[in-house]
Amino acid sequence: MIPALIVLLTAVILLAGFWLRARRRRAAADDARRILLSVAGRMMLPERLDGGGALKFERRGFPAAMSVHVGARLNVEVSFRLQGEVPGWITVSSLGLKRALLEQIGLRDVQVGEAEFDRRLEVWGSDQEDIRMRLVPAIRNMLLQVDRRWDFMWRLTPDQFVLRARIDPLDRYQVETMSGIAFQILDLLDLHSPSDFVVSKLQEKLGEDTRCPVCGTPLSKGAIVRCSKCRAAHHADCWDFNGLCATFACGSQVHEL
Ligand SMILES: [Zn+2]
Ligand SMILES: [Zn+2]
Repeated sequence: MIPALIVLLTAVILLAGFWLRARRRRAAADDARRILLSVAGRMMLPERLDGGGALKFERRGFPAAMSVHVGARLNVEVSFRLQGEVPGWITVSSLGLKRALLEQIGLRDVQVGEAEFDRRLEVWGSDQEDIRMRLVPAIRNMLLQVDRRWDFMWRLTPDQFVLRARIDPLDRYQVETMSGIAFQILDLLDLHSPSDFVVSKLQEKLGEDTRCPVCGTPLSKGAIVRCSKCRAAHHADCWDFNGLCATFACGSQVHEL
């Protein structure tokens, strides 16, 4: 009798916990939607969210998205879809990637030759010369400004530009500031606007040279997971580091093996 009561009580407590957590998550998601819409209004962007709660718009011809990933470490994201003009990839981060992961995929922190920037930020990428050439002083200055405010990660690949930061508690003025900085960095990159862009086909089959959308190295090495929403393959460690799918405006936090 007593054990049965204990089991019942435990079940009730667990259910109540799940329910509370689900309710908090819904409230946070509603809050995020409200904030994105108010930022859209202030920045003269279309005040419309897609089914996943992301704000979709265009910036100088580049398809763009602004979203909040409730529960992710870097919860606010501004991204632009590029069209392959940038050959290499660059990641600048204030977080500190896991050393073991980096060594496993053969990366090291690139020094750009500016003391404060090199001390405060970690830079990774496919080509050191290309990185130094692209990270011009004006862009470095913007990234340092981001670093003064939030934990962040900025990634530039042939397909997309992603700036993600931790804004907690979520605040519309800070989201606006971060978006403004992302716009300025995009402008500083001086890329050609796409007249029309082609939606890239998802690769179900991994070729020899299929690359991880987080670190840019081939997926032929190491454990791989796929996004449950768009099926894009990532290194398992890279997915963990990123906290969600790295495909443009996908934002799924669920993966499968
Ligand atoms: Zn990777
Ligand atoms: Zn995805």
